[in-house]
Amino acid sequence: MRILLVEDETDLAETLHTGLTAEGYAVDIAHDGRQGLWMARTGEYALIVLDLMLPGLNGYRVCAQLRREGITTPILVLTAKDGEWDQAEALDTGADDYLTKPFSYVVLVARLRALLRRSPASAPAVLAVGDLTLDVASHTCRRAGTRVELTPREFAVLAVLARRAGQAVSKTDLLHHAWPEEAWDPNLVEARVSALRRKIDTTFGRRSLQTVRGAGYRLVDDRERRP
Ligand code: CA
Repeated sequence: MRILLVEDETDLAETLHTGLTAEGYAVDIAHDGRQGLWMARTGEYALIVLDLMLPGLNGYRVCAQLRREGITTPILVLTAKDGEWDQAEALDTGADDYLTKPFSYVVLVARLRALLRRSPASAPAVLAVGDLTLDVASHTCRRAGTRVELTPREFAVLAVLARRAGQAVSKTDLLHHAWPEEAWDPNLVEARVSALRRKIDTTFGRRSLQTVRGAGYRLVDDRERRP
């Protein structure tokens, strides 16, 4: 199960990362609001732990923006404030629960478990395009049942293409959904797509990841191609 932790205090982020990893969660960290927002947009997290006071974009805005975009991933807000007003405001913007700093680690883990238990399967757990499947919770990819090892970035790119299977997705869209803002460079997309092709197509004698001239890339079910 994958958790996104959006926290600018490096020590706290590090401690939580260590603790939650030991609990068996896969944890990704974002150190500011903007980075948190783009990572959360992939929709591949089972849960988001979101600090409110963040550089770049504060937690209220991250939360509100995600809900506006229809992303329903459960959000647990961490706040250094303890006024009822802040807590109410956090819940109003679409957070599911909150915890006031300093908090007990044991309580945090219990709250996470409770949220995960009651959260409906909001996003499809498995994306499938033909016999290619992507399990978004465990970040595993399979072609006709055979496990394909992907890097996190390759997985993110493939997930964007799979969600829009059959449609051309531009390099710009892929960049925006799968890379942090400071790293936007179209050459990165080409390199990742080439690597993906080797892994999900060439190895299996397939041609599912297609280049659409002038428009980008398209992922299709290529099992019943006509000559
Ligand atoms: Ca903070």
